[in-house]
Order: sequence, then structure tokens, then C-alpha cells
Amino acid sequence: MTSALAIEHAQHMALKDFDRFAKLHVIASMQPYHAIDDGRWAEKRLGHDRARYSYAWRSFLDHGVTLAFGTDWPVAPLNPVLGLTLRSRAPHWMAKNPDGWIPEEKITLPEAVGAYTMGSAFAEFQQREKGSITPGNSPTW
Ligand SMILES: [Zn+2]
Repeated sequence: MTSALAIEHAQHMALKDFDRFAKLHVIASMQPYHAIDDGRWAEKRLGHDRARYSYAWRSFLDHGVTLAFGTDWPVAPLNPVLGLTLRSRAPHWMAKNPDGWIPEEKITLPEAVGAYTMGSAFAEFQQREKGSITPGNSPTW
């Protein structure tokens, strides 16, 4: 698959967008930590129905869309473990949404790690050099 386009902060989507991302091979670049920020106020601003496809990780993957995760540092904490925690359950300090903001959009830990590593490498055309420990990759550092 080739792709030349990523949409950064693909955080609040409409249902019709997933087929469009897939058809056009657009990468969904997201920063999972922002689900904490947005989870506190987005539904109030967007309304319940429009907020349903916020942080729609499961929907993107189920449509065959490449996810590229990042931390968005220095806007958000650099530690990607915080984002990995969010993909399947809410941290204890996210009391507003103890089961996750939108539980239907949870993904597995391997899927989340893949989005942080291989997905992000693919998004910057570096998948042969980083993103995985693969025979044949030629690290440049
Ligand atoms: Zn950003």
C-alpha cells in the first residue's frame, strides 16, 4: 500500500469518513493522550451522536486504515505508555469515563504498539529503517 497523505489529529470523525480514509489510503495520525483532554469536554460541545466517532481507533482499523500514533510532545507528555494505557481502559484519574470514553473504539495492546511504531514509521516513509525489529531493516543511527 502506498500513501502520501496523513491527517493529523484525526480525533473527531463522522461515520462516512472511514470509507473515505480507506479508499484514499489516508493515514489517521492520532495522539491518544488527547483523549483525556477531549474526553472531559468534547461530548458537551459536539453532542452525543457526533462524539461517537471520536478517537475511533477500532473503526479505523476495521476499515483497513493505518493508524500512526504519537505523543504530541511538548503539547502533551512525551511518555507513550500513557497513550498505551488509554487504548484499552481509562486510567484511574480519568474518573469521568471509567470504562473508557468510547468503549466500542478500544484496540488491543499489540495494535496500539503497532500504531506507535510501525504506523508512525510508515507515515514518514521510514518503515524500512525503523518501526520494527525486522531482518533487512537498515537502521541509520
Ligand atoms: Zn499536535
